[in-house]
Amino acid sequence: MYECKHCHIKVRGNVKCCPLCQGELTGTAEQNIFPIIELQPPLSQKMFRIGLFITLIAVAICVGINLSRPQDGWWILFVLAGSGCFWFSIGIAMKKWHNVPKNILWQVIILSVLAYFWDIKTGYRGWSLEYVLPFLCIGAIIGTCLLAYFLKLHTSEYILYLILDGILAVIPLILLLKHKLNVLYPSAICVSISIILFGGLFLFRRDLFFSEIQRRTHL
Ligand SMILES: [Zn+2]
Repeated sequence: MYECKHCHIKVRGNVKCCPLCQGELTGTAEQNIFPIIELQPPLSQKMFRIGLFITLIAVAICVGINLSRPQDGWWILFVLAGSGCFWFSIGIAMKKWHNVPKNILWQVIILSVLAYFWDIKTGYRGWSLEYVLPFLCIGAIIGTCLLAYFLKLHTSEYILYLILDGILAVIPLILLLKHKLNVLYPSAICVSISIILFGGLFLFRRDLFFSEIQRRTHL
């Protein structure tokens, strides 16, 4: 066992210096008492490709819809540009690993607002609220869940952003109930996914779910 002559303490394990004075230790090393945790690199590339693939599926569906309804105009170009911007931002966010769930939430808000103004400026056709907003919300919820799973994030690192992603789905719900939309299914899917999300959080992460709400709302 190691000993610090200065602090008169005995130190267990295989340490380099005294934990109190950082001074030199005398004696012999013993087997380390703490397990050595090997840090695994994040599966960022894999997650990135899965997310990209999900986007590709969504875009492919949009291409199909747009090709079958050319009278609506070529809104698919905007979806392509939007998805491109979204994944470009994600790509940049991936280089900086701090708080990606928060980053995703911000992307959804920024891109939805941009799309809405874009839609209005190009003679409002409704694609921003009918397609972009619900698909971004769906992407954010699924993306954050995949991120949390593959990066093994601690619940506290993503739960708030996941809750907020789910709350964003209230906007498509309100638009649906107010009969503001012509194309209903993207918003309907978004609301369904949000219900599944909150159900899942309530069933499997109940304690953290409520403690996070309490902490943030100071109730
Ligand atoms: Zn010491």
